[in-house]
Amino acid sequence: MFDVIVKNGVVVDPSQGIHEQKDIAMAHGRIVELRRCINASAARHVLNASGMVVTPGLIDLHVHCNANLMHLAIDPETACLLKGSTTVLDAGSTGELNFMGFRKYVIEKSKTGIFALLNIESLGMVEFARANQKWPELITGQDELFIDVEGTCEVIHQNRDIILGIKWAHHSLKGLALARRAADSSNCIVMAENHHQPICLKYLKNGDIITHLYHGLRMEQNDGLLTVDGKVQPEFYEALKRGVMLDLGHGAGSFDWKVAESGLSQGIKPDTISTDLHIGSINGPVYDMPTTMSKLMLLGMTLEEVIEASTFKPAKILGKQDHLGTLKEGAFADITILKDMKGKFPFFDTKGEGRIGKQKLETVGVIKRGKIVFNLFTVN
Ligand SMILES: [Zn+2]
Repeated sequence: MFDVIVKNGVVVDPSQGIHEQKDIAMAHGRIVELRRCINASAARHVLNASGMVVTPGLIDLHVHCNANLMHLAIDPETACLLKGSTTVLDAGSTGELNFMGFRKYVIEKSKTGIFALLNIESLGMVEFARANQKWPELITGQDELFIDVEGTCEVIHQNRDIILGIKWAHHSLKGLALARRAADSSNCIVMAENHHQPICLKYLKNGDIITHLYHGLRMEQNDGLLTVDGKVQPEFYEALKRGVMLDLGHGAGSFDWKVAESGLSQGIKPDTISTDLHIGSINGPVYDMPTTMSKLMLLGMTLEEVIEASTFKPAKILGKQDHLGTLKEGAFADITILKDMKGKFPFFDTKGEGRIGKQKLETVGVIKRGKIVFNLFTVN
């Protein structure tokens, strides 16, 4: 007896090279069968996903979801899980001094699967407290007062099941050097924001991540992907060769159509698509993962590519590809059901510039560990 069967959907699972109509059967929180025509009478619940795209549960590799513990944070259950992200990576909202509260009061109580990067700054992202407060200046100029490498390593060691690496953002390069040191002694990855380029890239090794790939800030200073004359900085190609991963990290200030178009035309694609959801981006221009994936389709990536960059590739970065980001038999039964709408849809970048897309993905159903979280597409 199966717990749930999703029938008649178009399954897109890049981990197995699948893009065709198939049924998926689940039991005890895992995928048990994936093939044509599974007998519907053998299940407690049957969802008819005819006309829908069925994918592994989406994985958003950059969110801020320490809800109620940081004023910028969003609630993972409503902002992520209900929008199709069954697993997320919190990108450094907390540091070594306040991670345990995040773990106890949010991570352990959420249905959303939450992994975390520990901020190299001991208190996490306090720097954007209020417009009249000067935390960024203080922190950037005085890393040694806000960072404790030993304490950071200790908290990583104690929470290795959740913490997968270290986040460096809004700090000077001295902070990045300390993040590198902490990551090397903890044997974990670094996610660095795409600033202080091209020097920043020199600190990153195989498996590390650059986020905010297509931001268009301080371009006159070569601060991100492109030089002043619009060429990809050559150090990015070198970083790709040594296995550095490129993450979208859309956010409220880090997605610029022109930078994205230029980057893509010069061969720089995001390995992973992520939202950088926080209260400053959730009500536009980001909204959610499917909207962000739709923007990359507008830019020329295929449906398979955007799904791979939102499922299997982030799962590999998390080191969880046997259980997440795949519909292989034996994997966790995390599934996102998307409507692939055709028409004319406006999409905006973080500078307020618009483009019209012909396709828009919208989440209409989510299954987490074999349990139906919600279903807007079929009547049982
Ligand atoms: Zn962020």
